[in-house]
Amino acid sequence: MSRRTHRSLPFRLLLSILMIATASLTGVVATAGTAQADGCYTWSRTLSQGTSGADVTALQIRVAGYPGYGGVLAIDGEYGPGTAAAVQRFQAAYGLAADGVAGPATFSKIYALQDDDCTPVHFSYAELNNCNSTWAGGAVSAATAKSNALRTMWKLEALRHALGDQSIRVTSGFRSHACNDAVGGAASSRHLYGDAADLGSGPHSLCRLAQQARNHGFNGILGPGYPGHGDHTHLDHRAGRFWSASSCGI
Ligand SMILES: [Zn+2]
Repeated sequence: MSRRTHRSLPFRLLLSILMIATASLTGVVATAGTAQADGCYTWSRTLSQGTSGADVTALQIRVAGYPGYGGVLAIDGEYGPGTAAAVQRFQAAYGLAADGVAGPATFSKIYALQDDDCTPVHFSYAELNNCNSTWAGGAVSAATAKSNALRTMWKLEALRHALGDQSIRVTSGFRSHACNDAVGGAASSRHLYGDAADLGSGPHSLCRLAQQARNHGFNGILGPGYPGHGDHTHLDHRAGRFWSASSCGI
């Protein structure tokens, strides 16, 4: 072997190692990028004020529990100031940089919070429909009732987190007319729309639930002190605000 070959062997070896190292690095980067794919929904762009579309709607559903005291976030696909403020509160609630812009860190937190069927991890469709076999037979179509229940669940997830991540017990959600009649519900009950949830006590008191719910996007709050609500706190999405739980100071 010539002296020259001796010198070039280590160089080739070094080159090979470098190429392998580069390939590995590339592989790591590609894996990190695709790891964001979610079983329910995957956002493909950063969203901020001024953007609009179905991806904004999907985001709004998940941050609708953060409208601020007495607020109700519009689920309209338009990323306005209200959505930015809700995203900011959501970020702050989970210890993220609170800039009101929904980027990778915000989406990662949402992915961690949702199941493959898009329900938040601590609630399920079955829990919000414990009186019927389907979502049909209410005051709206089955699809609308189910969609309303999903929106309710994301607000309950926000309520649950605000109360220290302790469990919340849903005792009644969507009701068909037959089911509503059977449990003696009001003829115009929001349970017929799928956008109401009754909560039982433990670990939180009914008043604690009613009071905290004022921060999480519920227009209807009925609790202790309101006729027929001594054993549960009722939350819903009626058109205008109606809060009544006189025993709780509401
Ligand atoms: Zn109710």
